[in-house]
Amino acid sequence: MYPQLSLYIDGQFIHGGGRPEQDVLNPATNQPMARLPHATREDLDLALSSAQRAFETWRKTSPLERGKVLRKVAELARERAQDIGRNITLDQGKPLAEAVGEVVFCAEHAEWHAEEARRIYGRVIPARQEGVRQMVLREPIGVCAAFSPWNFPFNQAIRKICAALGAGCTIILKGPEDAPSAVVALAQLFHDAGLPAGCLNVVWGVPHEVSDYLMRSPIVRKISFTGSVQVGKQLAALAGSLMKRCTMELGGHAPVIVCDDAQIEAAADMLVGFKFRNAGQVCISPTRFYVQEGAYDKFVSRFLSRLQKVKVGDGLLPDTRMGPLAQARRVTAIAGFIDDAHQRGATILAGGTALGGEGNFYAPTVIADLPEDSRLMTEEPFGPVAGLVRFKTIEEVLVRANSLPFGLASYAFTTSSKNAAALSNGLQAGMVSINHFGMALAETPFGGIKDSGYGSEGGLETFDGYLNTKFVTQMD
Ligand code: NAD
Repeated sequence: MYPQLSLYIDGQFIHGGGRPEQDVLNPATNQPMARLPHATREDLDLALSSAQRAFETWRKTSPLERGKVLRKVAELARERAQDIGRNITLDQGKPLAEAVGEVVFCAEHAEWHAEEARRIYGRVIPARQEGVRQMVLREPIGVCAAFSPWNFPFNQAIRKICAALGAGCTIILKGPEDAPSAVVALAQLFHDAGLPAGCLNVVWGVPHEVSDYLMRSPIVRKISFTGSVQVGKQLAALAGSLMKRCTMELGGHAPVIVCDDAQIEAAADMLVGFKFRNAGQVCISPTRFYVQEGAYDKFVSRFLSRLQKVKVGDGLLPDTRMGPLAQARRVTAIAGFIDDAHQRGATILAGGTALGGEGNFYAPTVIADLPEDSRLMTEEPFGPVAGLVRFKTIEEVLVRANSLPFGLASYAFTTSSKNAAALSNGLQAGMVSINHFGMALAETPFGGIKDSGYGSEGGLETFDGYLNTKFVTQMD
């Protein structure tokens, strides 16, 4: 069932051919399903030269023509969503409906970039002198190197590819070796949509070796990375030393503030769905739950009762609501957070254990009475764990919510417009969602501040990181 995996370089799908390879495991069973070929130095050099050559033509291809390829990708993605989704479930673990939904939803990203590419405007600045024309032009930055993660393997990759290609850049993408099928499927989609050879290249390997090699090449002018803060800082430091542009979409530790005046039960129901989506392996996952004292008991009781409906199992089974964690190392990581909570006297209200068996299954976990300096309240868990604490006033909770170096997503639930304004103004985050979950749409900017990174994906801002600004002044 699972597809054959390949590199995609200069318009060719390249299989093993004696290259180093690694196993790709099914996280529901930990059984190997396929071998993933790693790029050799020669492959990386070919990807670089091919992307450079393709850039000279692609940059001059009209936005309308570039948009046609992106629209075709959207159409093909919808057609193939079932197959691509099934393979995402097999290598990443999320329930089939989530995996198929990811692909269908992402077709919109391709369409959005096709539409916005036609609106990459410059401007004319009135001159001080007759006969002078002053223009601001926006030009594609060049060859991009992008590194996308395993939690939303289709979503994170297609956003980077569409932003680069829509802007007129070419791109070399290293996808997640843990969950590679979606990126190979993407290469096939772009290939079949008629993208010229070299505009998109897909490579695999040892992550730091590949990123180091590509980033140091003078051909590469821009880096885009989604992943952990730790790796992001390393790559940003290297990019800085090489004076290359970056978009960094890094980890978060999203606070959720539930006020006394919120619609408590509706908030709890929504939050269970959102917290345990993709087994909590989501950079915008709600993780630190601050619940106001008057609402606390009602919220906790409803949250726990709703949690009963989160059935854990193999993502291919129809009644599964939460699949396995994507790798065995995530189970170990989550166990570390739980041990720390235990040692600090916190109360485990639900879960708190791995579920045994062959796969990386972990029980949806809820922990209360956490000290503010516990690991769960200070480090990104990236798993199916919610930490619940109480707060008294809006002023106090804002200080606590803003106390960490992260600044990606944040959430609040309240029926008071005064609270909503105070929270949306006061939360230090790239994104604030009040009374619902409304992030990551194609037309809205996605990105963080502080340690969560810089630059936006999606929205009107999506091409900013892929364009140079050139000022031209001309006298008759
Ligand atoms: P990790 O830090 O080892 O890797 C995170 C991602 O970065 C992986 O996809 C990996 O292949 C890639 N990577 C690692 N080193 C790299 C390098 N030098 N150059 C290029 N790419 C590199 O952690 P992990 O165990 O894979 O994932 C767990 C942590 O990663 C989580 O705690 C979470 O913070 C973070 N993460 C964040 C996102 C996100 O959407 N922001 C996605 C996946 C993982």
